Amino acid sequence: MKILILPGDGIGAEITAATRLPLEVLDRKFALGLEFVERDIGMAAIEKGLDPMPDAIMEEVRATPFTMLGPVSTMEYPPGAQHLPSPSSLIRDNLDLFANIRPSRTRPGVPSVAKQMDLVIVRENTEGFYAVRTMFEGKGEFMPTPDLAMSMRKITVQGSRRIAKVAFDLARARRKKVTVVHKGNVLRITDGLFLREVRSVAQDYPDVETEEIIVDAMAALLIRRPESFDVVVTTNLFGDILSDEAAELSGGLGLGGSINASNDHAVAQAAHGSAPDIANQNKANPTALVISVQMLLKWHANRSGNNQLASAAAHLETALDDVLADPANHTVDIGGNAGTDQFGEALARAVDQ
Ligand code: ATP
Repeated sequence: MKILILPGDGIGAEITAATRLPLEVLDRKFALGLEFVERDIGMAAIEKGLDPMPDAIMEEVRATPFTMLGPVSTMEYPPGAQHLPSPSSLIRDNLDLFANIRPSRTRPGVPSVAKQMDLVIVRENTEGFYAVRTMFEGKGEFMPTPDLAMSMRKITVQGSRRIAKVAFDLARARRKKVTVVHKGNVLRITDGLFLREVRSVAQDYPDVETEEIIVDAMAALLIRRPESFDVVVTTNLFGDILSDEAAELSGGLGLGGSINASNDHAVAQAAHGSAPDIANQNKANPTALVISVQMLLKWHANRSGNNQLASAAAHLETALDDVLADPANHTVDIGGNAGTDQFGEALARAVDQ
């Protein structure tokens, strides 16, 4: 099985290297038969005279079950490349990765604002207020006159139903509770439709408790009682914002793992960005990417029924918890002094045990 590593921009090279090392140990320990292949995208591809996401690499992503995608930042690209869609959005659009699954939980030894939390935000990934990703042709954001800027929010029946199904299926494997976050009191038509469809899907899951919370109240309740949430399902922009809040509550953005998934494809990608302020300083926390890869292994294990993969995913999670429990392994963002490479080495040793 090939695992395609696309380091991307900013801290991408550092965090993918620190994630690859323990993954190689995991591969040997569980005889997963992974073949590691690394390709340049983003700035590294531009420097070779290519597009940020060369077509050939897009095809490779399509054909590869395991892709580890680093952060990309189009803001850093030269003017000629800035108008091109980012590698991340090309992958998401080409593979229709409609579900962005972002867990946040407190971990022993990791300083966090939340005392206790273990939740997953299921964010719709292809609609909502994201102007560049919602239209068949053209963009959902435009400027009819120099003093007027407009943005369109797209919500569909199909998009709402499929994300709701992902959330309820996930809740069934967890604590059986789904919180639906919306702004239906103001966005009556769009979020009205979203709510209607999520409620309809909920009827197929009578064993799962459902609650509905307005997004502004949710922003507050996440801080007040984060432990009360299990699976949270919401539209694109709300999910983006709330998942950063949740990651921060659990210890920081460097802990925010995520996968982007469709019904038959998934890509591991940390929820944070390219963090240019700390790039190339050996300061970045690779935890978010490690969690993302762990989620990807588990996602494949669940779909294929491959027990070896399931055991490897569980082992990686335990090893990560063990490493994070020791402050000597903490990177700067969570109050320690460990370098990115040091963290990767500590995790590789823990995986080997
Ligand atoms: P981009 O333009 O790619 O979104 P950004 O800096 O605007 O980059 P993030 O990359 O998400 O947004 O970073 C926000 C803040 O969080 C930065 O100060 C960054 O250093 C910090 N941060 C993000 N990811 C990590 C990480 N993995 N380890 C340590 N700090 C991180």
